[in-house]
Amino acid sequence: MQAFIKAQRDFFNTNTTKDLKFRIQQLNKLYYLLKDNEQLLFDAIYKDFKKSEFDTYISELALVYHDIKDAKRNIYKWARREKVSTNLLNFPAKSYIIKEPLGVCLVIGAWNYPYQLSLAPAVAALAAGNTVILKPSELPAETSKVMAQLINSSFDPAIFKVVEGGVEETTELLELDFDKIFFTGSTKVGKIVYQAAAKNLTPVTLELGGKSPAFVTKDCDLKMTVKRLVWAKFLNAGQTCIAPDYVMVAESLEEEFLEALKAEIEKEQFAIVNHNYVQIINTDNFERLEKMIEPSKVFYGGKTNASERTIEPTILKNAAFEDAAMQEEIFGPILPVLTYTNLDEAISEVKNLPKPLSAYIFTSSAENREKVLQQLAFGGGAVNDAVMHITNPKLPFGGVGNSGIGSYHGKTGFDCFTHQKSILHKATWLELPLKYFPHSKSRLKWIKRTMKFQ
Ligand code: NAD
Repeated sequence: MQAFIKAQRDFFNTNTTKDLKFRIQQLNKLYYLLKDNEQLLFDAIYKDFKKSEFDTYISELALVYHDIKDAKRNIYKWARREKVSTNLLNFPAKSYIIKEPLGVCLVIGAWNYPYQLSLAPAVAALAAGNTVILKPSELPAETSKVMAQLINSSFDPAIFKVVEGGVEETTELLELDFDKIFFTGSTKVGKIVYQAAAKNLTPVTLELGGKSPAFVTKDCDLKMTVKRLVWAKFLNAGQTCIAPDYVMVAESLEEEFLEALKAEIEKEQFAIVNHNYVQIINTDNFERLEKMIEPSKVFYGGKTNASERTIEPTILKNAAFEDAAMQEEIFGPILPVLTYTNLDEAISEVKNLPKPLSAYIFTSSAENREKVLQQLAFGGGAVNDAVMHITNPKLPFGGVGNSGIGSYHGKTGFDCFTHQKSILHKATWLELPLKYFPHSKSRLKWIKRTMKFQ
């Protein structure tokens, strides 16, 4: 691994990646590599956890393709020197910011969207002129293997290299000196990564998880609310970092809301019987989720199949913050529904939990909407929708507090792999004498005056 990093650092130091045409070539190469081998990618992910072509396209590949196109379209704008005004004290001069690539970047992916979460940060890093070592999650073994095969046989390892492996290999990688570490995964492992990065003062972006609430108020558009909630929650069998983890519904709407949820799930035919529902990634997670289903609270679903590793879309009624399902991020197709009588109190209760990655508010009231948006700290979210904010590249995507550090997507992704090198470019035809000896009261007065015009 040390040798790969050395090769990448040597290559980076040739300054080749500073050429924008070179970066576009790499992005094109990746684009056609994925396009030409789409079927291999679909087959691999199906073997791992039965994710369908449709879901893989809309929630993984389409986002990566879009990121590549977006970066190619905007690279000249994002990478160009940014002029800023110069303060009077520095007259005569100009000031600008050089967008400098950081160098050798380590991208560590999570398993739940194995292509998107590995490749989208890699695209941002390459577009910004870095070299990349990508370590995909080892849990979906086939997708990890196919990414390694395709990328390692097409790219110069001094530019882009996939290293496969689990905890042991990642720990070994984290010992090494990178210029940036981009990690997607759990808060627990995020802390390990942060500590390892601190040894070398390596900057990090940590894309972590959390329990993302969805508030449903009495005045919401109920039909649209359940339609969007059900899709967002049960997509990928609930294994989505920004899935609504639980619902806080107005008590007076509870019965109607639960019935509408049930009807929507049945309409969407998410049932296990159609053999078209994404599996839980492994037995550990399957067993962890099974323990969250308290039989006395099951309003809908609740059936599990250990050999298939599937869990029916499940709604828990009368859920409470003390329940097993409310002790950690669910990350599966189980939706606890809690009720509230006062929205302010509900927000306060959610505030007692660590800051979530997302939050959603389904309401037609501006007052309710603003209460949630302004009182609750969370990474990002949506009003009257869930999950879809991730698809707008103009919205920085990332957490806050326990749900992460930093953000990416679109220009924010480019910036997260870029150093902003600030330059004051001074002219030589004039030098104001104010800062030089002899110091005097009148010079100090002039300094104070000029500083007013900062
Ligand atoms: P994870 O933290 O278990 O694993 C993530 C990566 O870290 C994997 O590549 C794994 O090999 C590596 N890893 C695991 N244990 C390690 C250790 N002890 N030392 C070093 N490396 C280690 O996370 P996961 O199970 O793959 O993903 C689920 C979590 O990720 C959830 O909490 C979810 O919310 C979060 N997530 C966040 C985002 C986001 O964009 N913010 C996206 C997807 C998932």
